[in-house]
Amino acid sequence: MNLSTPSEVARETFKTLAQRKLVPTPDNYAKIFAEISGTPSMTNNGAEQVLQDIAEYLQKTEETAASGNALKTIINQADWAQCGTELENILSGIPDDSKAAQPWAGLIRSLLRQLDMPHKGLTVTRKKEGLETVLTRFGNKPEVLFEKMGNLVRSWSESPVTDSLVEIAPALLPGTPASPPSALTDIPVKATPAHTIESATAMLGNLSELLAQTLESTLSTQPELSDEVLKLATQVRSLENHDQVTVLAKQLRQFWLKAELRGGDKIKIQEGLVRLLRLLVENVGEMVESEEWLHGQIVTLHNIIDNPIDRHVIADAERSLREAIIKQGLLNKSLTDAKTTLKSLMTTFIDRLGNITESTSDYHHKIEGYSQQIAQSNNLSELGSLLDAIMHDTRSVQADTLRSHDELVESRKQVNAAELKIQKLEKELSEVSELVHQDQLTGALNRRGLDSAFEREATRTARSQSPLCIALLDIDDFKRLNDTMGHQVGDQALVHLCTVIKQALRPSDSVARYGGEEFIIILPDVGLAEAASTVERLQRELTKQFFMHENDRVLVTFSAGVALRAAEEPQDEVVGRADKAMYQAKRTGKNRVVMAE
Ligand code: GH3
Ligand code: MG
Ligand code: MG
Repeated sequence: MNLSTPSEVARETFKTLAQRKLVPTPDNYAKIFAEISGTPSMTNNGAEQVLQDIAEYLQKTEETAASGNALKTIINQADWAQCGTELENILSGIPDDSKAAQPWAGLIRSLLRQLDMPHKGLTVTRKKEGLETVLTRFGNKPEVLFEKMGNLVRSWSESPVTDSLVEIAPALLPGTPASPPSALTDIPVKATPAHTIESATAMLGNLSELLAQTLESTLSTQPELSDEVLKLATQVRSLENHDQVTVLAKQLRQFWLKAELRGGDKIKIQEGLVRLLRLLVENVGEMVESEEWLHGQIVTLHNIIDNPIDRHVIADAERSLREAIIKQGLLNKSLTDAKTTLKSLMTTFIDRLGNITESTSDYHHKIEGYSQQIAQSNNLSELGSLLDAIMHDTRSVQADTLRSHDELVESRKQVNAAELKIQKLEKELSEVSELVHQDQLTGALNRRGLDSAFEREATRTARSQSPLCIALLDIDDFKRLNDTMGHQVGDQALVHLCTVIKQALRPSDSVARYGGEEFIIILPDVGLAEAASTVERLQRELTKQFFMHENDRVLVTFSAGVALRAAEEPQDEVVGRADKAMYQAKRTGKNRVVMAE
């Protein structure tokens, strides 16, 4: 080949680059230029060193070490075309957490929903155990945790749902499908503001209907107020927005005052109900964010109104509702804060990504321009300065990429931390949201409810210097009942026992489910002997009100230990003493009550 001028060499160089399908990078250009002109290759002006630095940086971190090694090999082979491809792979391999967070949000939402759903044969406790197992086994394997949790939630959603909710839900939620969502895909990943407002409006509608029903139920006890009641009920049913609620709330308060003044025993029940509704109405704004919780509360309230009304139930519901609202408020605030932080991190993250692509495409653009100028140039010094300019741009784009990579790694760490915080808060919120104080099967307090009831009564009785007793009950030969009649009948027997003892106790006494078939009763303001005779009265009550199974009377008995709390005695110690006394009752023939030392 006879190429006498540098510009001819340059032109030939570009032709060769195109023929060999090489990217017109400065290094490739320099290499081919040297090859054609027969001169030694130009240095690559430190670009190689920058690439070496990137590779070493990547090698330092475990998750990017493989990419670093690959890059290093390519650099050592001086395969610059492959090097570009590899860098592109590395950059596109950086996970985009903004996408990852979406399926998690959807999954958590489904999880909360399915946890609350009354599936046949699947108690909330059992669901939580399943969740705990998955978390224990896969908690430190983020790459499979999502899939495993998804499978778990899907398995819940495929179980049949008990009738109670199916009956209530469509009536409560106009416009929602008749059956609860059965697959993960049915559940919207993210509530849009429009959806939230729509749900809030639906909730307001449900609340209004309940409130109207509650008002109407006062008709039977307060016939003289009937005109006023009917008028208020009509107004309540036509409520459309929050402002109208505020206006009506004033009128309702006056009405309640009037109704309360008329006194009477039944009014106490009405009072409890309207207090509950008041709580709900006053908190409707705050609850919009967590409609599922509100939905749960409305179902509970509906159940209360539908069943024979009982002072205990209302008192229990009011207490847990009040506590849940307070906790809910606090948690919601932290959750909103955490979400705001996450959002701003995401924005920064995406901006950074944008910067990278911007500067790289800018670079490509410039290189294209340069190659045209080179093709047209006839002059060696012009070519030299063009090459200088190309080198300069290359260096700056490489430095940019390196800096952005550092920033990306840092942002990703922050996003992960924010995600974890949100998951933790959402878990806490869900714990509060499912009437945390009640056992799902029997409606007695659960362990958490027991703890707070004990703390409350211990403080109160200590202040008033009154006695406080604890009774621990364990059903006799329950295994046999389960074995002969089946576990489900066993469950019904537990519900029966709870109903009978709750009816026979004072409203100030609390009943909690302590374990499978063990119950604790907190008896404030009574001494040891009186507490023991109260528990014996419960035993007599159970021999009068039989548990019926297929028209057969089934006698359910229990053994109990009763202990008087010593001054300042912690819960576990007094319960431990009651437990010992209960075992004494078992050993000495069962169906007995023994007082602890
Ligand atoms: P004992 O008189 O000595 O108390 O005899 P027991 O058969 O009651 O023995 P134990 O208290 O050790 O066993 C309790 C049994 O109660 C074991 C378990 O199968 C059953 N059980 C525990 N929780 C539940 C539940 O939620 N539902 C039903 N149906 N059975 C339960
Ligand atoms: Mg037991
Ligand atoms: Mg037992």
